Amino acid sequence: MSTSIDALTQETTELLQQMIRNQCVNDGTPDSGNEDVTARLVRDELEGLGLDFEMVETQPGRTSVVTRYAGTDPNAPSLCLMGHTDVVPVNEDGWRNDPFGGELLTDSNGLQEVWGRGAVDMLNLTSSMLVAFREVVRTGKRFPGDIIYFAVADEEAGGVLGAKPIVDDHWDLVKCDYMLTEYGGTPATGPNGTAVLLTTGEKKGAFRVVRVQGEPGHGSMPYATDNALVKAAKIVNRMTEFDIAPRLDELFASRVKALALDPQLESMLLDPAQIDDALAQMPPGLARNLHSCCHMTFSPNILQSGTKGNTTPDYAELHVDIRMLPGDTQEDADALLAEIIGPDLMPSVEIERMFPDQTEPSFLSPTDTPLWSALSDSIQIAYPEALVVPSIVTGGTDARFFRQKGTVAYGAGLLSNNISQPEFLNRFHGHNERIDIESLKLTTQLWLNVLDRMWV
Ligand SMILES: [Zn+2]
Repeated sequence: MSTSIDALTQETTELLQQMIRNQCVNDGTPDSGNEDVTARLVRDELEGLGLDFEMVETQPGRTSVVTRYAGTDPNAPSLCLMGHTDVVPVNEDGWRNDPFGGELLTDSNGLQEVWGRGAVDMLNLTSSMLVAFREVVRTGKRFPGDIIYFAVADEEAGGVLGAKPIVDDHWDLVKCDYMLTEYGGTPATGPNGTAVLLTTGEKKGAFRVVRVQGEPGHGSMPYATDNALVKAAKIVNRMTEFDIAPRLDELFASRVKALALDPQLESMLLDPAQIDDALAQMPPGLARNLHSCCHMTFSPNILQSGTKGNTTPDYAELHVDIRMLPGDTQEDADALLAEIIGPDLMPSVEIERMFPDQTEPSFLSPTDTPLWSALSDSIQIAYPEALVVPSIVTGGTDARFFRQKGTVAYGAGLLSNNISQPEFLNRFHGHNERIDIESLKLTTQLWLNVLDRMWV
């Protein structure tokens, strides 16, 4: 069914299209991204409202922009709406439409969608946040606390040219008590009603290089040699087969309940003895997400060894992407890694932390806050009596820099029933990324409703 487009949704749609067309593609190299283009667009869109802007250029072309709408009470808590402006690269071969066209297309069911890289991660939020922020300033509505709009560069490469240096060196610009950012707002409807998922925390990376030692020898006589590659391959195997205990805590239980699954499948997912069987019956995208929400995960991603085709390697190097649950420490990751490698192979390896200064565990923002209540009430306007549940982001977002500063940060947004949760997750960094107009409307309204309820 086609959605009638109101004026604000129209503004969000057009701004999203423009942000997609700006192609701020961040491939991880410092010269990519070019977020300057969208930073200038943001400034132009907010021009003439009497606000001050700070354009922070961490290096040429990598510009973030921040502006603050002052509240009436200096003691009232402030709220920051933060959206990143960069997107990840695409492989055009997998796309049915131009990934940077920002086209508004209608499918065979009449569903209107904006297509392009960033449509769900997260230019939909970055654009709708700007539109809601602008609407508030334009109408002269005043709130007790400051409202900050922050369009930030370089989220997709870990925030090293965006949120991290800005939080470290310009905290006064972005200082906030509360924050809304990516991602959340997927509804699921089942026999017990609708549940909508928000995120209150995220996993933390514990990247490791496992250096495996062996003995060099002639490739013509491999029998009983100490081949470093063979040992590294054993470690890779153990990593995929090791039975890591799931953490089936209250947060995971609420994540599962939010899916509105068949009750039998739900109870299997919450039983340590049956969770593996339950995951095996589910769509892979969703199973992958749920598995990551309740496990420390180990993904062996790079294996290098050898120097010559006729020589058994005396050295192999394995790069492992470890993701820890909130509260886990780097020592917890090392201990489990050693257990997986096993006492027979541990004497042959050395383990190096790739980011030794990242020692703080990640933690969850509490939900007994005025912002959580404002979100729940606002979501229930669109989805009456919906249960609003907290969960975690399996990857990292810029919210982590703010949580370390004491900011309560949630991943939010509000999607229509046109996108299922597995489909939504598949669109992150996937082919054919797109978002329907109704979701843009719901999200734009969500921000406005939250602002109206945050300080009451
Ligand atoms: Zn993102």
